[in-house]
Amino acid sequence: MRPIYLDNNATTRTDPKVLTAMLPYFTQQFGNASSTHAFGTDVSGALKQARQHLQALLGSAFDHEIIFTSGGTESDNAAILSALESQADRDEIITTAVEHPAILTLAGHLEKSRGIKVHYIGVDGRGRLDIEAFQRALGPRTAIASVMWANNETGTLFPVEHLAELTHDAGAIFHTDAVQAAGKVPIDLKSTKIDMLSLSGHKLHGPKGIGALYIRKGVKFKPLIRGGHQERGRRGGTENVPAIVGFGKAAELAADHLQEEHTRVAALRDRLERGLLQIGHCFVTGDDQNRMPNTSNIAFEHIDGEAILHRMNREGIAASSGSACTSGSTEPSHVLRAMGIPPKALHGAIRLSLSRENTADDVERVLAIMPGIIAKLRETSPMWQERQADPELRVPNYV
Ligand SMILES: *Cc1c(COP(=O)(O)O)cnc(C)c1O
Repeated sequence: MRPIYLDNNATTRTDPKVLTAMLPYFTQQFGNASSTHAFGTDVSGALKQARQHLQALLGSAFDHEIIFTSGGTESDNAAILSALESQADRDEIITTAVEHPAILTLAGHLEKSRGIKVHYIGVDGRGRLDIEAFQRALGPRTAIASVMWANNETGTLFPVEHLAELTHDAGAIFHTDAVQAAGKVPIDLKSTKIDMLSLSGHKLHGPKGIGALYIRKGVKFKPLIRGGHQERGRRGGTENVPAIVGFGKAAELAADHLQEEHTRVAALRDRLERGLLQIGHCFVTGDDQNRMPNTSNIAFEHIDGEAILHRMNREGIAASSGSACTSGSTEPSHVLRAMGIPPKALHGAIRLSLSRENTADDVERVLAIMPGIIAKLRETSPMWQERQADPELRVPNYV
């Protein structure tokens, strides 16, 4: 049977239209965009067009506000490091406890290696940011505040437009990692105070290894990669033309599909979620008011999420725990821990992330298979057995 892919927040399939757009740039229009002959000028036109597609997806006012990078990780690193370098009198970072490792690993490194003070703003049980704590952390030493637009594990959306205004009032730079949000929720940067924004191609049906960083006109930028004069000197290295063209096409398609994401994909996700909740002793983590239309993170009590995923995989269903796992031992997700999810459910969380390629049939198949998987695992879970045997301990159903 055709496998079912429900791990679109980890990566997406490159849209065949994207691949078609890319192919000529390997063997026919293979020029270097910096060359002044026809091979080069053809290519620089294609780069310009790709940038315009990204500009349209983001609602950015000027095309030179977008530079291409090697991915979301590079864009995040470039934004934070530039803010520190361009404001020598400011040496503090504000971020959240639930960011992607592209931010958190760098922040931890800067604390250790440079003594940079990092404020990790916490979230509540639904994953909502503590805005008062964010405001308290802002001050004359804040170089940059970096808050993701949408969380990759729970789908929770953060009020980045508001946070950008608060940050500006403190005279600091505001960056957002919008890798998950782009193409799923509307973005119009012209009407916000957001200074920098990160994107990645492979999270929106584009190729891997390509990303972008939006840098608002007028914001000082210090390059992470120094080399040739590409990207107006802000990112050295010969442009990855086929990937950029593919990314542009993917952005164009994402803009076309934005409405569908909110109707058809959201309806599939809701149907999936409602069906799974009927299994009992499980709940949706993340903010149901402000959540991406494609993401569902469900915590099953008293069982191990990795065991669920393993059995799902055997049935041809790909999902994820959303957390990094090392061979054999699984560390609970830093996101769910920050939310204070109780231990009995912390290890049983799985993330189901859909895309425009999923169908109603996918959802029905998953719903047909999951109750059996959960029941089997609970049968062999000592903790579950113990709880069920003791009426005092029997867990109340959340639904
Ligand atoms: C995937 C992801 C990244 C990293 O993007 P890459 O292009 O894989 O480097 C960064 N932030 C978030 C929120 C992501 O989901």
